[in-house]
Amino acid sequence: MTAQIIDGKQLAADMRAEIKADVETLAAQGVTPGLGVILVGDDPASRSYVTAKEKACEEAGIYSDDNRLSADSSQEELMALIGRMNNDPKINGILLQLPLPKHMDENAALLAINPAKDVDGFHPVNVGKMLIGEECFLPCTPHGCVQMLARSGVETKGAHVVVVGRSNIVGKPVAAMLLQKKEHANATVTICHTGTKDIGYHTRQADIVIVAAGWPNTVTADMVKDGAVVIDVGVNRVEDATKKRGYRLVGDVDFDAIKEKASLITPVPGGVGPMTITMLLYNTVESARRTLSLPAGR
Ligand code: NAP
Repeated sequence: MTAQIIDGKQLAADMRAEIKADVETLAAQGVTPGLGVILVGDDPASRSYVTAKEKACEEAGIYSDDNRLSADSSQEELMALIGRMNNDPKINGILLQLPLPKHMDENAALLAINPAKDVDGFHPVNVGKMLIGEECFLPCTPHGCVQMLARSGVETKGAHVVVVGRSNIVGKPVAAMLLQKKEHANATVTICHTGTKDIGYHTRQADIVIVAAGWPNTVTADMVKDGAVVIDVGVNRVEDATKKRGYRLVGDVDFDAIKEKASLITPVPGGVGPMTITMLLYNTVESARRTLSLPAGR
């Protein structure tokens, strides 16, 4: 079997068109969704993520309030900025780009964000609500994975999902989401990590394998069953002298071999990545919608 490729770029483009239409509907009611962006320091990777997020906001018609703090800014300056955004009615979501410089207290900063504006879904109030199945902001990358499954017509109800990786930003939340007794969830979920004795034993039983480990080839073809659906969250640089920049991006699974066995698979790049920013836009619009007490969107 040769797998069908899940086109993350196309799915993200479809969702962004829907989000843009929702923004126009809100605008007709006098509301422009706003995202407050905070970048501390000048880490090139963080800068390029933030630039991509701001560009995506602009394309969707979302107002973005961009704030750059120098690397030697104090915690007090950061907390004051978060406080200002918490109280600014034009801002529906706050994005604090991580990591922060070492002298800053990341936890204190994340806790200071009003949970009603926590569009990254990292605040413990939102994490707790996610776990008990209440309405909340779902974290963007795992929510993007769930959307990809839903929009590709993959039935999760009754499926066995094996998640490889238990980070707070991907592995644990994607497992928690798929476990809910809800539409696009209701799966039996197993989580593997570095303490798991035989990862292949678990992944070979999976109808859906979601890999977020941070290492190339963490999951190889002998570790998946025929016809499985494989979602590869990983983004890794591997040396490649044939490329101008000297490297190429690969995921956490052996894509070339697994695509001959799986029924559906996400590529890297062009898979989960484009969905992450899309879900940030989605959460920002949801937050604006809540200020009007409108029912939840898609
Ligand atoms: P992380 O915080 O480093 O967590 C990795 C998790 O994988 C840990 O729980 C670790 O287990 C587990 N793990 C590592 N090696 C393993 C192995 N050989 N077998 C089984 N489990 C293993 O990483 P993350 O933030 O979740 O990110 C994971 C990957 O996704 C990275 O490549 C990252 O770049 C990518 N990512 C992509 C996006 C996107 O938008 N596309 C967003 C976020 C992350 P322990 O807990 O036991 O250490």
